[in-house]
Amino acid sequence: MPKYAMVVDQRRCVACMACVVACKKENEVPPGQFRTRVVELVEGEFPRLRMELRSELCNHCDNPPCVYNCPTGASYKAADGMVLLKKHRCVGCKACVASCPYDARYINEEKGFADKCTFCSQRIAEGKQPACVATCIGKSRIFGDLDDPASAVSAALRDNHHEVLLASAGTKPRVFYIKKFGTPE
Ligand code: SF4
Ligand code: SF4
Repeated sequence: MPKYAMVVDQRRCVACMACVVACKKENEVPPGQFRTRVVELVEGEFPRLRMELRSELCNHCDNPPCVYNCPTGASYKAADGMVLLKKHRCVGCKACVASCPYDARYINEEKGFADKCTFCSQRIAEGKQPACVATCIGKSRIFGDLDDPASAVSAALRDNHHEVLLASAGTKPRVFYIKKFGTPE
């Protein structure tokens, strides 16, 4: 069984938003809602400012509060590590939305259930890459099997310092970041 993860190499992002558009099209994300976004972060003090671009999405946490707080079992952690949703069990109570420290979830108002990034599980099942990865012109997004030492994600993590978002939250994310400028002092 693979252990899926994503690496975001922030050095390679050019903020073209192709990933955001591809995700919306692939997953029929309603207007005004997003499964992934690219945020611009300004760090440092004037005049020594610098900008980081950061793709954000569900972290498919190994210790996922959204799953623990779901009262119906709709949200679950699959054996391959992906955090997914049984739509027919979702009652739209928003407990998962409130408990995610990454603001990764929303209620799909058109369809009435909680939604978020699924790593494009429908594409993975067909042997394809997630839509955002397949369309990323800078090759900033890398997806694969952490348990395969030859995978692109394993190589990227082996060769580069990497971090997760809000490590102090204890959710154990499976999305890893290689920063452009390193950790701010
Ligand atoms: Fe759940 Fe949020 Fe972690 Fe995704 S990022 S698994 S929605 S807690
Ligand atoms: Fe579970 Fe749906 Fe409620 Fe989220 S909105 S906690 S998935 S029942």
